[in-house]
Amino acid sequence: MRNKIPCSAERLSLLDPPMIKAVADRNAFHIGNQYLSENRVRIIEADDAQISSAVIGNSGLYEQTIRLKDGHLISKCSCALPEEPMCRHCIAVLLEYHRWAQPKNGEQRRVKPSVAPPTQVYPVRAGAPVPGLASPTDLKLGEVMAFIEWLCPALKALERGQTLPDSSKLAGDVASWSQIIRNLEERRRESEEGRINLESDMRDREAYVGRLTQQVQASMEEIKVAQACSQQLQRALTASSEVLTKISEIASEVGSYESQLKSLAGEVIAKGSQLDKLAQSFRDVSTVLKALAKTPAIP
Ligand SMILES: [Zn+2]
Repeated sequence: MRNKIPCSAERLSLLDPPMIKAVADRNAFHIGNQYLSENRVRIIEADDAQISSAVIGNSGLYEQTIRLKDGHLISKCSCALPEEPMCRHCIAVLLEYHRWAQPKNGEQRRVKPSVAPPTQVYPVRAGAPVPGLASPTDLKLGEVMAFIEWLCPALKALERGQTLPDSSKLAGDVASWSQIIRNLEERRRESEEGRINLESDMRDREAYVGRLTQQVQASMEEIKVAQACSQQLQRALTASSEVLTKISEIASEVGSYESQLKSLAGEVIAKGSQLDKLAQSFRDVSTVLKALAKTPAIP
């Protein structure tokens, strides 16, 4: 979430809790204040014009950038909360920065609001105390011992992938250390689940591809069989067309024989009529001969 609100303050350290409360959402301010008391704010780098920070929220670690520019307070947080005009995390950071920037034990911190140039940053890398990060002297030995006592079974649980032991008895800064370990473990678990889901998805897809490949192979076989059938049909067609050609040749031969037979028949009929005429002549001759035989002989 990114927000921009008009702000008359010239330096971030001048924003005191009542001023922050006056502009913030009531519920968001309450939770931000609680985060501050639970020591969940980590300021990474800051000067009186800009703060970079991280806050351990209820669902993970969120990062913020807050700056003063041209009479506006511009806040940006990696969370997705709709809190207006700024989220609980940015409120917690402003409260933490204000608390840190106040003179303590009669001595001003290195960043003095009255003299701090806008580009001066917290001397984080110079080993000076960083707001939100306890200096070694702030830690109580008992707390550290309790943390180490918790850490041993926690490490074993991490190794075996089991749930982390209860850390509610830890107090002070070490409580947030255990919370950080818990958050990291949570994230590891989430990515592990994601990995398992991805793997199962991959297996499903591989099986699907395998089935598709089998189907393609079966289709190829069918195509081969169909090709063979089509070749056989083609051969049969060629043979049939050859047979047809022969049949038409035979038919034309039969036609020519028929005409020859017809002319032969005509000739036979003509010969027949000639024979008839010859027979008639014989009969005439026979009749004449018979008549001659009956005639009495001439004396
Ligand atoms: Zn936020």
